[in-house]
Amino acid sequence: MTTDPISAIVADNMCTGCGACAGAFPNAIRMIEDPVQGRRPVVENSDAGRRAAKSALAVCAGASSDWSDLKVEDNIDADWGPVLGAWEAWASDPEMRCQGSSGGAVTALASHALAAGMAGGVAHIAARRDDPRLNEAVISKDRAGLMRGTGSRYAQASPAEKLGEIARSDDQIVFIGKPCDVASVHQAMQSWVELADKIPLTISIFCAGAPNLTATERLLQKLEVPKDAQLADLRYRGNGWPGLMQAIWKDPQGTLHKSKSITYAEGWGNYLQSERRWRCRICSDHTGAFADISVGDPWHKPPSGEQDKGRSLIIARTQRGQEFVEAAIRAQAIVAEPRPRDVIARAQPNLKATHGAVWGRSLAMRIVGLRVPRTSDQPLFSLWMALPLKQKVQSVLGTWKRILRERLWRKVTISGVQK
Ligand SMILES: Cc1cc2nc3c(=O)[nH]c(=O)nc-3n(C[C@H](O)[C@H](O)[C@H](O)COP(=O)(O)OP(=O)(O)OC[C@H]3O[C@@H](n4cnc5c(N)ncnc54)[C@H](O)[C@@H]3O)c2cc1C
Ligand code: SF4
Ligand code: SF4
Repeated sequence: MTTDPISAIVADNMCTGCGACAGAFPNAIRMIEDPVQGRRPVVENSDAGRRAAKSALAVCAGASSDWSDLKVEDNIDADWGPVLGAWEAWASDPEMRCQGSSGGAVTALASHALAAGMAGGVAHIAARRDDPRLNEAVISKDRAGLMRGTGSRYAQASPAEKLGEIARSDDQIVFIGKPCDVASVHQAMQSWVELADKIPLTISIFCAGAPNLTATERLLQKLEVPKDAQLADLRYRGNGWPGLMQAIWKDPQGTLHKSKSITYAEGWGNYLQSERRWRCRICSDHTGAFADISVGDPWHKPPSGEQDKGRSLIIARTQRGQEFVEAAIRAQAIVAEPRPRDVIARAQPNLKATHGAVWGRSLAMRIVGLRVPRTSDQPLFSLWMALPLKQKVQSVLGTWKRILRERLWRKVTISGVQK
């Protein structure tokens, strides 16, 4: 039986796997990797564990988020979160641009924060060296460390596990994560003064959903990596835009081999996206509304091949985010062309429809008594109303079908755990 609020969030399918609860209370809560359910927290079964879990609720954006302190001034802000400015941009450093997921803008901005003395470190995730199927949260202090994070990792990751280390650090630390990771960090900064003082900037990537380890295994099979091979590297994106999915593996004699490669479209469409967790389908922020800066792909001008020169779409969400992007342009850390604020809707039409469906999906869940994340002051109903009738109906009926097919009333249990 679930006896603490963090375990209840996991059991009720509300957890995004951001890692904030474990980052804030590392002695009582730890993240584990479940091949199906994803990275999820496990709370120590003790009074101390239960006390920590109760306190950790304050940092958890998986269960609730609150838009009341976001600057929402028009329909663009209401649909996407605050949009103060927009640019198509890429890293001036050609290697960073090439290795980056789209244009390497995230890494270039983080690198500029270090070079300009704004921060002494950057918290982000990178593939684990001992097992590149998995990710680890790291704090990088130089270009080499940041380059380890380039390219999207379409796999579970918990960058907010670094919260405690950030709060205790002597340095200012920039935080990079997915929208749900940044939302928890934003929430934590509201009540945790030492943490708020240490984070001068947050950067979010856009995110349609994070697949699980099972999806990565399916991908490796498709890439024809031998089952008993030692994996040395796995790229989901990068090396051009959008880049190819490819692995490097070591045979028993220690010789490195490149696997076959497949396109990003094939990998995401056929092997990864179906393994996103249910929590991602009721996610109401895919573009990082709570960040200072968010970055995604300018899909309205898609690349002509698989390994074009990359371009990123940068959105400034706060005044300090806008000033930072402008400073990075002046310092020639990034090359950027300004775009009208509504470019985000043209670049991400699928995500707008996804945001719209969330109200219908949540309604369907509530009707059958399932718990949904609380989303205070986010205008989701009007987004749902803007959907065509067929999509409105689909958002409700499709959810009931899925509840039956996936038996979503059953409590999530974490098994087959892997550190
Ligand atoms: C699971 C997932 C889903 C995505 N869905 C979309 C989408 O729907 N639309 C869209 O436009 N873009 C999406 N992206 C983002 C996009 O692919 C690029 O990350 C974005 O354009 C930034 O590119 P860049 O070249 O500027 O970043 P880079 O310079 O390559 O830097 C990428 C940064 O992202 C961090 N990162 C990578 N993977 C993860 C992860 N799993 N969790 C937390 N941090 C991570 C790295 O640590 C690194 O700092 C998704 C990315 C991921 C990981
Ligand atoms: S803080 Fe993050 S990892 Fe912890 S329960 Fe909430 S969503 Fe899950
Ligand atoms: S879809 Fe939302 S909940 Fe899922 S990983 Fe992305 S930001 Fe987090």
